[in-house]
Amino acid sequence: MFHDVVIVGAGPVGLMLACELRLAGTPVVVLESGSEPGAQAPGVALNAGVVELLEMRGLMDACRAEGFEFPMAHFAHIWLDPTQLADRYPFNFAIPHSRLVHHLAERARSLGVDLRLGQRVVEVTQDEESVRTRIETPSGEQTVRSRYLVGCDGVDSRVRQAAGIGFPGDEQPFHGTVADLAVGPDSPLGELVGAREYPAGLVAVTPMGPGRVRLLTGEFGVEPPRRDGAPDLAEIQDSVRRIAGVAFTGGTLAWSARWFHVTRLAERYRAGRIFVAGDAAHTHFPLGGQALSTGLDDAVNLGWKLAADLGGRAPEGLLDTYHTERHPAGARACRTTRAQVALLHPLTELRDIVAELVRFPAVNEYLGMMVGGTDTRYPVEPAGGDAHPLAGRRLPGIAAAARSVPGLAEAWSAGHAVLLDLTGDDSLGRAVSGSAKRVTLLRSAPLPHVDAAAVLLRPDGRVAWAAPAGGDTAGLHAALTAVAGAPAQGS
Ligand SMILES: Cc1cc2nc3c(=O)[nH]c(=O)nc-3n(C[C@H](O)[C@H](O)[C@H](O)COP(=O)(O)OP(=O)(O)OC[C@H]3O[C@@H](n4cnc5c(N)ncnc54)[C@H](O)[C@@H]3O)c2cc1C
Repeated sequence: MFHDVVIVGAGPVGLMLACELRLAGTPVVVLESGSEPGAQAPGVALNAGVVELLEMRGLMDACRAEGFEFPMAHFAHIWLDPTQLADRYPFNFAIPHSRLVHHLAERARSLGVDLRLGQRVVEVTQDEESVRTRIETPSGEQTVRSRYLVGCDGVDSRVRQAAGIGFPGDEQPFHGTVADLAVGPDSPLGELVGAREYPAGLVAVTPMGPGRVRLLTGEFGVEPPRRDGAPDLAEIQDSVRRIAGVAFTGGTLAWSARWFHVTRLAERYRAGRIFVAGDAAHTHFPLGGQALSTGLDDAVNLGWKLAADLGGRAPEGLLDTYHTERHPAGARACRTTRAQVALLHPLTELRDIVAELVRFPAVNEYLGMMVGGTDTRYPVEPAGGDAHPLAGRRLPGIAAAARSVPGLAEAWSAGHAVLLDLTGDDSLGRAVSGSAKRVTLLRSAPLPHVDAAAVLLRPDGRVAWAAPAGGDTAGLHAALTAVAGAPAQGS
């Protein structure tokens, strides 16, 4: 059978992309080698960017019931002051990523995603017309054909390798363990809750529920005792003793893994009909929750573009903007997390200076948006004149806007593009009429933090075009065509 889009990997990024495609009405197949999506997902932090995306798509309520707001944000564990930022979620939200993946899988199924578990992709080839994907399944080998294939299959991506996409980068001498433990109320790990640095490395303890903690250790400049296999309890206890000087005995290990400080970035995010997203495209130390937010931003960036292409309404070159917009974002995440790891190293004087600098409001805001994943600006080329300062950015104060603009939350959870008319009159109604099915026109009083009278938002929430009061709307037609295709004939 011939499919429009096949996604490899039902991790958070593959599932998010699948949901985006279904919202746009595109059929999609997801092939996942595991028997349960996200069963082994190691992460626990969601940063502002992820919370905003989940909020936009109406997914945050399910997560909120199973996690908690961790009312801080940090740059290399140097605490920032999130209360000074304009956003509603400038801090981290803690939830086991396995639960996030569970909710994404439920959403995907409810939207009609064809989610196939126990299907390991072993070979991918493409020609000008299609992609052929060979899969090992419990009932034997199969081949599926599709118009496009997206590798969301993690850091060791088979898809990326098969597409011949290089993954340059390196590993630095910093490694550690991550584990879930059941502990008693008297465990000395209780005193280590939060993230702490020591001359030898760091220890982070996150409560995960009654009597359960997630423990992360990291050591600089020493070889790991082993590189393969999961660390056992004794190895983890040794590691905490070496780093923090805290001896803890007891505790029951529920799950554990090793991690290494590897930073790599795909040379290109597209090779013909094949794309890569998430950890398949970029991997770095997951500080500040930036790993997941960079991956989910890939998914929402690519979803509407693939749907537009398959729906025959994509302007020329739209699919290539996935690379031009997201590759720099991946590069930046790699660079800024490396910088943070350098600061975690016991170069205490440098840490002290940065800790002093973050007291300046502008530094606090700059770093807060960086680690929140909310400062990305895509290059926007207006069809004449200068781009508005908001163009290419996310709408500031997304959560507040969703509450105050009637219809915005609904439009976002349906994955629509939105033309916001903040003038209070109907001056933009005619412009959008030809694209009516794909663009929702909403009227509202001016929004705080939004210095414009009219804003066109792409389905991923990015500003495609904006104009001040009385400003020139000449670029709106071109922006609408780029977002929603040429207006229907006769409208
Ligand atoms: C120890 C640790 C802690 C972390 N903590 C955080 C955190 O707190 N916050 C944060 O933002 N990020 C964190 N991360 C990073 C985060 O886990 C990743 O960025 C995120 O999981 C990437 O999602 P993904 O969907 O791209 O890939 P993955 O989650 O790796 O999912 C890939 C999926 O593809 C499947 N797959 C692989 N190969 C094939 C194949 N050949 N055929 C079919 N299916 C295949 C896999 O089974 C898997 O389900 C952490 C990472 C580690 C290692």
